[in-house]
Order: sequence, then structure tokens, then C-alpha cells
Amino acid sequence: MTLQRYRDASKVILKAEEVNAAEEESRASIASIMKELALLNSHLKRCVLCGGPGSAVQPLKKCAQCRRVRYCNGDCQRKHWAKHAPTCSATH
Ligand SMILES: [Zn+2]
Ligand SMILES: [Zn+2]
Repeated sequence: MTLQRYRDASKVILKAEEVNAAEEESRASIASIMKELALLNSHLKRCVLCGGPGSAVQPLKKCAQCRRVRYCNGDCQRKHWAKHAPTCSATH
């Protein structure tokens, strides 16, 4: 192996190590995103406006369009709509 080749090879190894580090980092951020999502999911089981958990008699209603948020009733949904509208179905 010539010196030049050796240098090229070590450059490639350094590159690979950089990629590994980036991968580790993205894996860590994916883990924290998953944690946040789980937290968000548990919040989503409550009315997004007032935090009410709903009941057997009156279960929470999901937004009919995006099904990502829940409300105690149509009243909470109406009151929250101004806030929810920009994100409702935004990812569809
Ligand atoms: Zn509510
Ligand atoms: Zn919606």
C-alpha cells in the first residue's frame, strides 16, 4: 500500500465514522421523538381544549376530518376550531 492509498483509506474510514456518529444521533432523536409521541398520544385521550377525559356516557369525539384530536362534545370542538383549523388534516 502506497502512502497516498493509505491516506485515502483513512479518509474513507473517517467518513464512515462520521456517518456512524450521525446515525447514532438520529437514532437518539428518533427515540426521543417516539417518547414525545407516546406522551402526546396519552394527551390525545383527553379533550384537547379542556383536558376532560370523557366518560362512558359521553365518550370523547374525534375530529371527523383528521381524527387526531378529541373533544368532550361539539361545544369544545367549536371553541377549539380556530386553533385546530391550521393543523387539521394538514398532513393529508
Ligand atoms: Zn372539552
Ligand atoms: Zn381535525
